[in-house]
Amino acid sequence: MKKHKNHYIFITGGVISSLGKGIIAASLGSLLKKQEYSVTIQKFDPYLNIDPGTMNPYQHGEVFVTEDGTETDLDLGHYERFIDQNLSKKNNVTSGMIFWDVLNNERNGKYLGKTVQIIPHITNEIKNKISQTLSEDNFNFIITEIGGTVGDIESLPFLEAIRQFQYQNKTTCIHIHLTLLPFIKTSNEFKTKPTQHSVKELREIGIQPDIIICRCEKPFTQEIKSKIALFCDVKEKNIIAAIDAKSIYSLPLYMHKEGLDTAILDTLNLPKKKISLQDWEYFNSQLENKNNTTITIGIVGKYTNYSDSYISIVESLKHSSVHNNCNLKILWIDSEKITEKNITKLLAPCNGILIPGGFGERGIEGKVLTAKYAREQKIPFFGICLGLQIAIIEFARNILHIKNANSKEFNKTEKDNVITFLPEQKNLLKKGASMRLGAYTCQIKKDSLLFKAYQSTIISERHRHRYEFNNHYKTQFEDNGLIISGKNPNSQLVEVIELKNHPWFLACQFHPEFKSRPQKGSPLFNQFTQAAKTNRNEQKNRK
Ligand code: GLN
Repeated sequence: MKKHKNHYIFITGGVISSLGKGIIAASLGSLLKKQEYSVTIQKFDPYLNIDPGTMNPYQHGEVFVTEDGTETDLDLGHYERFIDQNLSKKNNVTSGMIFWDVLNNERNGKYLGKTVQIIPHITNEIKNKISQTLSEDNFNFIITEIGGTVGDIESLPFLEAIRQFQYQNKTTCIHIHLTLLPFIKTSNEFKTKPTQHSVKELREIGIQPDIIICRCEKPFTQEIKSKIALFCDVKEKNIIAAIDAKSIYSLPLYMHKEGLDTAILDTLNLPKKKISLQDWEYFNSQLENKNNTTITIGIVGKYTNYSDSYISIVESLKHSSVHNNCNLKILWIDSEKITEKNITKLLAPCNGILIPGGFGERGIEGKVLTAKYAREQKIPFFGICLGLQIAIIEFARNILHIKNANSKEFNKTEKDNVITFLPEQKNLLKKGASMRLGAYTCQIKKDSLLFKAYQSTIISERHRHRYEFNNHYKTQFEDNGLIISGKNPNSQLVEVIELKNHPWFLACQFHPEFKSRPQKGSPLFNQFTQAAKTNRNEQKNRK
């Protein structure tokens, strides 16, 4: 790590939402790391929810979980995947958390009876959160993404806080503003006015952007760059084009080509060097390589129209497909629509089947039918969290003949719950909640798929669940062909199960998708994809 002062990059968005600030922040993080600076990325979310853990996946996409068990916005997943670095609680701050802290301070008399106000109390707390993120590791750069769009009422305290922050840290701050540069087909031209207005709005708050990134559907001319530069008072070489990309993973390449990393280092007077992006180039070249075979993975869930709800799983499958030199096709299957009658037709195209995590009873029976189909038809099956619980319920009902086998989550009586909530586990749970959250170790049985995947007898993966395998039934399951290949070494809770006499049937209570990185795919996803590829070739030969 280079010895430099701390530097702060703030990313705001203008004109419309969903322009991809998160991916820009993540790509920039990756480029600065290649420039040999240490980096962390933080997201400020202007909504009032205290934590994203309780937010509806329809509205908000996946809940990403960090090592320390924080339930965060899905952008943190992109950050971790792009900068290949674990983040923590400090990296995701919502307005709700800021208000909570300030009001608790007020209740504890910390403000000595003064009037508590947005300015300075809320803004000071926001500034504290920026400094706190840096305090432990002393990164060269902290990239802060401000959620929302400039002009929103909710983001005003954040913008005022970063304005003050810059006033207090003049030479070490930089502002990036991401806007939309629409192309109007009827007049065949790009329009810069929305960008001008957005920058005007930002300047009214007292923030002058140093770099403007324009999201656009195709390349634009130098003339347009000069125009934006002149009207927005930004150097011409600091106007960067972010053209719609086929894959988010091409963004580090595009941003480097456009000179984003060097624009930042030049503006801050920091040394730069020629960097190699070979790893990103290779990854992108393999993502859709015409010479590779295509495998079809069926994801059986209940948010199938909203793939953001399973985004880490989708990204992990992409990573593992590149690892196995194959192209990926995902078939989304709504578990509520699965019946005994249509299951063969629905699942026939799948070379591998995955049941992801989930909460609540909706769509459960379709998932149980899916696990049965994969077990009997010997299709590679990967169950994650709820997916493990479903596989256990199915096995209990159809192999152990416990007709009403279920999970305590769906069956409020105490009878036949092969998945249960263990009161004696309560004191093993991390403080405060009844969910097992974050990283826990898992001890691996040698001579298992799990051991083959990780090549280790002890691993650690992230968790987010409440219910557990009921160890009361352990011998019954094991005597009938179920292998418990992973257990928590301290509590003996079941972490991973496999099946005898099946090419690849594995389910885990943890979420390996949270630790998969483009250049370092999750061992279980890699192995599952490989099994699906083998199955595809065999299915083809049989035809
Ligand atoms: N609902 C299940 C539980 O709480 C599974 C959770 C999950 O899949 N993340 O245990």
